[in-house]
Amino acid sequence: MIGIFGGTFDPVHNGHTHAALAVAAELGLSVIHMLLSARPGHRIASQTSNEHRWKMLQLACAEHSNLIADDRELNRPGTSYTFDTLTAMAADQNSVGENKSPPVWILGYDSYATLTSWYRWNEITGLCNLVVLDRPGQMTPEDPNLVDFFAQRQCEKIDHSKAGQMLRLPLPMQEVSATFVRQQLRLGKSVSHLVAPKVNQYIEQHQLYITTESIV
Ligand code: ATP
Repeated sequence: MIGIFGGTFDPVHNGHTHAALAVAAELGLSVIHMLLSARPGHRIASQTSNEHRWKMLQLACAEHSNLIADDRELNRPGTSYTFDTLTAMAADQNSVGENKSPPVWILGYDSYATLTSWYRWNEITGLCNLVVLDRPGQMTPEDPNLVDFFAQRQCEKIDHSKAGQMLRLPLPMQEVSATFVRQQLRLGKSVSHLVAPKVNQYIEQHQLYITTESIV
């Protein structure tokens, strides 16, 4: 079974890798695709170019044999819709005759809380199983539309032979965000304790996040 952990990774930080590795261990997933969201439809523009975010993601994943940096959304023109990505992944799986276990889509609570704004959001669980992680410091109230949706699909343990299940996994997470990493850098502070050493080196080498301009 594979997991998918999507993000803008602007930049990828230890909270991301910790979350992916913790879910892989808890659910026995063989690999997690760390999927760079190139042109997200439901959030503001990133601060750094796709190229920099992609290089940093590759550096962070290279440290862990079960994390795969995934650029399929970078290579697809237009807005990066999760629904389209999952549809394409299912088609790939069929074409090579791989085992048909649906992937596990992993997301933090803050991202889950925005689910109803995603393109074809209520069809996404037809293509995967959804795992929601706590996000310390970012537990906003749940969208009422999600409460029923979740209640109808929640499970205590994922049955990997089918899609459509949702699981809240209360694993301990790290209290770090890309916003905080960027803020620290703007203030001239070190982020070596928040990102992988090679990501830290890359940020220093390219002097990233010193200004607040965003890339569209
Ligand atoms: P930003 O601060 O710019 O919003 P972020 O740190 O939330 O960035 P994203 O790339 O937007 O990072 O998030 C990708 C995914 O990782 C989302 O599902 C988000 O909820 C999750 N995530 C980010 N940080 C953590 C963390 N510390 N623990 C658990 N999940 C996290």
